[in-house]
Amino acid sequence: MKKTLHADAGWIRRRLEKINTFNDTPEFGTTRVMLTETELSCREYVKREMRDLGLEVTEDTVGNIFGAWRGREPSLAPIWTGSHIDTVLNAGMFDGMAGVVAGLEAVRLLKNAGEHPRRTLVVVVYLSEEPTRFGLSCLGSRIMAGDLDERAIRTLKDKDGETLYDLLSRLGFTPEHLAGAVKRPGEVHAALELHIEQSANLERRGKRLGLVQAICAPTNLTVTVTGRQSHAGGTSMADRRDAYMAAAEMSLTLEQLAREADKQSYTTGTVGVVSNIPGAVNVIPGKTVFSIDIRGADFAVKDAMLSKLRASFLKIAEKRDVSVELVLENHDVPARCDGRLLEVLRLACGSTPYLETISGAYHDSLFVARFAPVAMLFVPSRNGISHSPEEWTDFEDIALGAQVLAAAMLQIGDDA
Ligand SMILES: [Zn+2]
Repeated sequence: MKKTLHADAGWIRRRLEKINTFNDTPEFGTTRVMLTETELSCREYVKREMRDLGLEVTEDTVGNIFGAWRGREPSLAPIWTGSHIDTVLNAGMFDGMAGVVAGLEAVRLLKNAGEHPRRTLVVVVYLSEEPTRFGLSCLGSRIMAGDLDERAIRTLKDKDGETLYDLLSRLGFTPEHLAGAVKRPGEVHAALELHIEQSANLERRGKRLGLVQAICAPTNLTVTVTGRQSHAGGTSMADRRDAYMAAAEMSLTLEQLAREADKQSYTTGTVGVVSNIPGAVNVIPGKTVFSIDIRGADFAVKDAMLSKLRASFLKIAEKRDVSVELVLENHDVPARCDGRLLEVLRLACGSTPYLETISGAYHDSLFVARFAPVAMLFVPSRNGISHSPEEWTDFEDIALGAQVLAAAMLQIGDDA
């Protein structure tokens, strides 16, 4: 007979509040950028907490942290749970950290209940999920997935011009052995990640837990429209080849196509950066460069949307006598959460109502899914807000999530 697991919201709160003291902007939210002095101190704190729970702490060659509770049969592939502890600028205290602390609490609960699964349970802190320092997200999990090689990390530079490779070397990691951090399918039996929802779906439906079916993946493009630069007063409306107006029509076409695609499968389209050249009030832009970010839960839907987008942009360019160039920066494949893990999580939820949902934002689990079965568990974000000092999740909800994590890890931890 298994004992009932009761997570301690106070235990979770104290650790999240302590983590939140490692903060470069205490006057406004929380800023803890990867591998700054502040983040390094926070990593040391988390490693101490892991050791206090009796976990064996190791780091791989690029700085992902692992706290392992050795199973009864340590030769079996381990179960992972975890998230990240770096933040964007002026963020909140939950995005990422909730998953790390919930993982620690889940292991603590199982230990206190006298359980000891066959498989080793590992709390993972992935290196830099946020793209704050190098402009690329999920550095640790991308490296694990073999998505970033040595050449790539020698190219990525922070604002001071230091490469990721040099930064890691300077801090005593060994990026020359990057291959040692890459995981192969089968090496990890299952990976679970608790994360704050970062949307308001749970709150709207009055649910405290969300089971993620799929994690949307991004497609990013840089679009350059070239028209003819000329005088805003002297050039009649009939004579213009306005790069920006063409870009504006293209942006509205993106919105329209995303709305259509969204009817089939969750899809979003965003233009986040626009720059006009030369950028003066009385000059018709000769060139406009803008970004496109498409997210979707279904790769085929996203791919079809991309084809339509290219065709529409060419038509718009022709009609307006401008030229357009689309550079595809990345076209990532969304991840499906593992069916069996979802079933285990559903059972672990017991009588607690949950919402089956998808993740519009992406997480380390998107990359971990390339080498292991993954599942994600969401806890509510108040008003759907995150990446903001207003980000809030109730500690009781994280505790409930930690309980579900513990029950699920206990179940799959005894898998043959
Ligand atoms: Zn996160």
